[in-house]
Amino acid sequence: MGYYRAHMMHPKEEKTFVLIKPDGVRKGLIGEVIKRFEQRDLKIVAMEMFLSTRVEMDNHYPKTEAWLTRLGDKTTTTYEKYGHSVKRDFGTTDKLKVGKEVRKWLIDFMTSAPMVKMVVQGVHSVDMVRKIVGPTMPYLAEMGTIRGDYSADSAISANIEKRAVYNLIHASETPEEAAHEIKHWFGKHPIYKYKRFGIDE
Ligand code: GDP
Repeated sequence: MGYYRAHMMHPKEEKTFVLIKPDGVRKGLIGEVIKRFEQRDLKIVAMEMFLSTRVEMDNHYPKTEAWLTRLGDKTTTTYEKYGHSVKRDFGTTDKLKVGKEVRKWLIDFMTSAPMVKMVVQGVHSVDMVRKIVGPTMPYLAEMGTIRGDYSADSAISANIEKRAVYNLIHASETPEEAAHEIKHWFGKHPIYKYKRFGIDE
């Protein structure tokens, strides 16, 4: 509410940033992902296939202690839930160190094959896209979400194999994060304006 008041923006002007990760591209899901966004009245306003450098990826994911600790904390909580030992797999129980390790695996994964980046616009697009994509862990994602329909990975499987969770898509979590990511990935590219039949006119 405050966000829209502050920006005097109609909800359908909201933009979010989406990456189809290497597993999504390699599974042939580019068309399916775009279809699901478009069928919910979301509009693709910029798009490109590319291979990310490690530096670009490093600047994409936050590296604040808070973000790294959150990632480490999530991992630790999952381990406790399933009775696995963080100490055995990571050699430490320090949440910051665990978060740093997972972030490194993420960068390895995201630079392993081409991805498709896009800017998606539409009513509350940040929340809508996250809903269509589903929660982070594919094995917990509802059927009907992209992750629930096309992936089955888990944190424990990924950590044992020392890699990031394969969950097909990255999508911004907040409008502020979206603004930052759009600037980072589409800084020099045009973001297009056009009217979709039945939505904008
Ligand atoms: P997202 O916003 O749904 O992508 O999730 P996060 O921001 O929490 O995490 C970023 C990415 O890190 C996720 O999309 C996963 O690919 C990966 N990831 C998250 N948690 C874990 C974990 O516990 N273990 C591993 N190996 N990867 C994880």
